[in-house]
Amino acid sequence: MLQVGITGGIGSGKTTICKIFEILNIPIYYADDQAKKLMVTNELLIQDIKDFLGPDAYTKEGQLNRPYIANIVFNDQSKLDRLNSLVHPAMYKDGQRWHLQQKEVPYTLKEAAILFESKGNALMDKTILVVAPLDLRIQRVIARDKISKEAVLSRISKQMSDEEKIPLADYIILNNGKAPLVPQILKIHDKLAILSKKRLG
Ligand code: ATP
Repeated sequence: MLQVGITGGIGSGKTTICKIFEILNIPIYYADDQAKKLMVTNELLIQDIKDFLGPDAYTKEGQLNRPYIANIVFNDQSKLDRLNSLVHPAMYKDGQRWHLQQKEVPYTLKEAAILFESKGNALMDKTILVVAPLDLRIQRVIARDKISKEAVLSRISKQMSDEEKIPLADYIILNNGKAPLVPQILKIHDKLAILSKKRLG
């Protein structure tokens, strides 16, 4: 069973494309959602975060105190890096455990917005990059999240550009609203299924 990472800049359409892979019965690990879950369920990680950011990082109900945390880490890159360095090992373990639990599939997919930025691609057998024109991505995120163009641009500026990511990816999916998605996805799915069989044989 291969481990495949799927990534792409904000608004490129990763999640939309993963829904199509789900129809093909491919299990998907949504890394960002899972990280949020681990931060409120993994006792060791919770303790590490409290030791680092203080007890106010959590509400009385045990939920993340998002405004408090955002105020600290989004104003100080070194603190954001430190928080990520606490979350990443827990996510790595959780992701590996999840992958090994999957049965009778040629590959699993891990959807992660910062797969290349976090060097998570080193753990994957193959990677898929979703690309779309910048102006379209901006329009999509404004429509989806009801935020300003400046806020979208600020998020984009924190990610690697498509030009930097393209040489690192094994497969590219173009989601420009014109190129049909299903044939692109089926082509990659078939290639991965063949590769998986070869590895088994
Ligand atoms: P993020 O990194 O912010 O999670 P993402 O890469 O997962 O973004 P999606 O959430 O899949 O992107 O897509 C962004 C928005 O654009 C969504 O509202 C989605 O419905 C829309 N969208 C994506 N691809 C298409 C498409 N081919 N046609 C129409 N709408 C699309």
